[in-house]
Amino acid sequence: MRRSHDALRADHAVQCPNCGSTKRPHAACRECGYVRPGLKLALSKEE
Ligand SMILES: [Zn+2]
Repeated sequence: MRRSHDALRADHAVQCPNCGSTKRPHAACRECGYVRPGLKLALSKEE
């Protein structure tokens, strides 16, 4: 029982579907600013 909650506290990381780098789910990708389909943060080097 002592590890029963580990899954909920795990440090999640997903691969950015846009550039492939590791990022946190629901957090903007540091490489490309991708968050989820339909939402992408503008990076400073935007053209
Ligand atoms: Zn990315």
